[in-house]
Amino acid sequence: MLHGADSKKVIVLGLDGASWDFLDIMISAGSMPNLKTLISRGTRGILESSFPPITPSAWPSITTGVNPGKHGIFDFVKTNYENGEQTLTTTRDLEHPRIYEMLAMQRIETMVFNPIPAYPIVPLKNLKVASIAFSPKPVYHPDHMKKYALTFPDYLELFDAGGKTVDKDLFLDLKLERTYQRVSIVEEALRNVSWSLAWIRLQDPDDLLHTVGDIAYSSGKVHKMFAIIDRLFDVSHDLADLVVLVSDHGFRRYTRTISLNTLLYKEGLAIPESKHGLQDQYWAWNQSKYSQEREGGFRPPRVLQKFLQAHEMRLLTKLGNFALKISNRPYQFPKVDPIGSRAYSPTPYGDAVFVREASDLERTRQALTGREGIAEVKTREDVYWGPYVTRSPNLLVMVDHVNGYRHGSNRIERHIWEEKIAWDHHPYGVALLSGERVQPKASVLITSWDMTPTLMSYLGVPLPHDADGTILKDLLDTSPVDRHDYSSNWNLAKVL
Ligand SMILES: [Zn+2]
Repeated sequence: MLHGADSKKVIVLGLDGASWDFLDIMISAGSMPNLKTLISRGTRGILESSFPPITPSAWPSITTGVNPGKHGIFDFVKTNYENGEQTLTTTRDLEHPRIYEMLAMQRIETMVFNPIPAYPIVPLKNLKVASIAFSPKPVYHPDHMKKYALTFPDYLELFDAGGKTVDKDLFLDLKLERTYQRVSIVEEALRNVSWSLAWIRLQDPDDLLHTVGDIAYSSGKVHKMFAIIDRLFDVSHDLADLVVLVSDHGFRRYTRTISLNTLLYKEGLAIPESKHGLQDQYWAWNQSKYSQEREGGFRPPRVLQKFLQAHEMRLLTKLGNFALKISNRPYQFPKVDPIGSRAYSPTPYGDAVFVREASDLERTRQALTGREGIAEVKTREDVYWGPYVTRSPNLLVMVDHVNGYRHGSNRIERHIWEEKIAWDHHPYGVALLSGERVQPKASVLITSWDMTPTLMSYLGVPLPHDADGTILKDLLDTSPVDRHDYSSNWNLAKVL
């Protein structure tokens, strides 16, 4: 093969949302013996996710080798701050080629399952893609990948069911069956499609922990699920010289939830969307009780107020049920007004605050700094660098994960803080390199953008000219490589 790739083969198994505390339980229970063997022959580390630690932004940081300021994706959606409209981020928003695309441009065959972002596919020669996740329909390239894309079960099929289903056993049986189908499809593709780099992203850990986090660690069925996934480590060991395990972020159990928009509302920086209907009237009255300024909204007479205070929770539930009945949706606190608010958090996942006027920036930063549940507030320029930094909201809020806080809803809730057990993302994901040329080391901390330069140099391929990551030379026996600007050819292919 060209460009010094020789016969070297690399498999990357991306387990979305996996953390070591979860995998270690699977390993010590004997559910993942093949992973255990790979760890004994390799170096394991913590992969520190990029900010925010969410799938759509974290995977591109890993697969491009650059920070979000250069690859351009910060959240599931991009927000138009002129009108508040939000649209899903796609490959059109991605500004940097990914490792499997760069290798394909170097005439090295690559195969990828479920890339992020998923669509539209950049239709390069030597690149084989099958994807169903984060895509409105299965997508594939070229045609011979169609059967894999069409048969791979979509994670969304059961995503919501986890919270609603009465019978968790039945739910997990179905999950188990789906995991079996996915692993079988991936195994078949690994054996039958020709590749030098195979990048497989499985969403099972993230999917499970979001839906049934409370029982995922202990359920026998979850252990069975990961025993099935473990087969892929054995197959990979057979087929590849280097096996890599990586996740885009970890997962934790949190006990407290902070609502940034409620905080900004109470500081007079965010305002709710215009009120209408019974739900909003009740909310406005309720807020006026708790906020400093006791203006605004509907105020019942004193006697009724006393009654309401005493029966508040029951009333809230009743009103909620009533609203649910008449509008066919559950009670929900109002959203922020994206036009009228001086500062607001556009999504619950981004942990970021958009400030409309530069003159409000310092005031907003001060309103957030030092508050319970917030470890630190940074500007986007403190965290990112590159031509697309201004796509991010202005302020980034480092939530106090250490003390059990997560950012929850981006509606204006009754309280800024809430006691609530929830399973959610954590910045620490996993990384493992295992193979003959790996120098075993104790656990290391790896930055998201180190993975791509390291693997490219292992394969003897020039690094992207603007790579932020460094080659992890002390972990892997790599060759010195040049740098190359892949962007113009990739951009050309992207618009085709
Ligand atoms: Zn993820």
